Amino acid sequence: MIWNEHKETMSRDEMSAMQGRRLHKTVDYVYHHVPFYRKKLQSMDISPDDIQTVEDIVKLPYTTKQDLRDNYPFGLQAAPKSEIIRIHASSGTTGNPTIVGYTRRDVEIWSECMARCLTGYGMTSDDTFSVSYGYGLFTGGLGAHYGVERVGGAVVPASTGNTEKHVRLIRDLGIDGIACTPSYALHLAEVMETMGVTKDQIRLRIGAFGAEPWTENMRHEIESRLGLKGYNLYGLSEIMGPCVSFECECQNGSHVNEDHFFPEIIDPDTLEPLGRGHYGELVFTTLTKEGMPLLRYRTRDLCSLVEGDDCPCGRTTVRMTPIMGRSDDMLIIRGINVFPSQVESVILGIPECAPRYRLIVDRVNNLDTLTVEVEMRPEYFMGADTLEAVTNLEKAVAAKLRSVLSIGANVQIRQPGSLERSLGKGKYVIDKRVLK
Ligand code: ADP
Ligand code: ZN
Repeated sequence: MIWNEHKETMSRDEMSAMQGRRLHKTVDYVYHHVPFYRKKLQSMDISPDDIQTVEDIVKLPYTTKQDLRDNYPFGLQAAPKSEIIRIHASSGTTGNPTIVGYTRRDVEIWSECMARCLTGYGMTSDDTFSVSYGYGLFTGGLGAHYGVERVGGAVVPASTGNTEKHVRLIRDLGIDGIACTPSYALHLAEVMETMGVTKDQIRLRIGAFGAEPWTENMRHEIESRLGLKGYNLYGLSEIMGPCVSFECECQNGSHVNEDHFFPEIIDPDTLEPLGRGHYGELVFTTLTKEGMPLLRYRTRDLCSLVEGDDCPCGRTTVRMTPIMGRSDDMLIIRGINVFPSQVESVILGIPECAPRYRLIVDRVNNLDTLTVEVEMRPEYFMGADTLEAVTNLEKAVAAKLRSVLSIGANVQIRQPGSLERSLGKGKYVIDKRVLK
């Protein structure tokens, strides 16, 4: 099923023409309503009339998270205060939160885009869906919530606390789908297992997972423990919230709702736009936003746009590959680039290791060190009564990490349940170098 046949299956020419019209309108709108953009465009000698087609986008300036911070709280807002009906803040994973105001129409478009995502996962109005993204300033909770209502399903606003009660509801109400972070899905699986609830006793069919990077191995892990199919859901508060892109049943990339959010990939160092198929930083321009429209917003998320618009699902919207990490998540350890997601892939590929790990980066005698703490799976831990078994596992993990990362890591196997659990976005890295 496709939620909005017309918008999601347009020909490339039709889509580009519409994007061009909307882009012109957006530039004209910010030029007249946001002094920050007017000054910027004037200093580059660009007037709204210079932007007529979607190809003209390359003439426009980028917007960065720093611009949002410099204009805190409402400097980039275009709509008058009287038209703002909702205010969210980004979760501040990498610094001060940024504030985003939404008009009524923004909230409607958000729900529409979220309904497209949920329909892409196979959700219908017969389904009961629980939302376990945090409710509150974070866009995850309310964003997914409005989408479920728009599709016409029954929403269970479970949020993140009280997981045991949530497990009981999942079982007793026969809940069909859940929207949450992959970290929370794992936590849910663990709590369910300790309560003795098996996956045959629940009916969960769909997982709408996002808000943090997750690997293919993590998908398999969650799917096998909860007995559902996990789909990617991507978004960011600056652009809207969850709903920007989603996986369809083909799971060959995430379809971008590109009639509302125009994606580009750029080289984060030279800022040159890169073509489809090239890996780089994802940039979005909002095409219909009223509250806080943004031109070429640098997300710092790293991925590529898939070549070709031919997805077997019938949608023609461009797809993006999974986010490997953020440019600011990337650790440089002894000069080598390391993404936490690479470590995750290795760990989840080793049967004795639980999907619970932590990277600790430090600098000792001017040399960077990487320690990887990882929990052993309870079933193996019981059997590993000798120190030797643990040491051998540490060696095996270290060897695998070295071959993937090209640097040595000090691996420390931990007891099951000993590393901190996260209900929202997981915290997998401690970089002590920045604390020094
Ligand atoms: P913050 O930047 O404070 O975390 P948000 O709460 O708006 O702000 O989170 C948006 C960010 O979360 C994205 O820029 C991206 O880094 C991450 N994210 C969201 N969805 C996904 C996803 N499906 N896969 C990977 N990362 C994601
Ligand atoms: Zn598709």
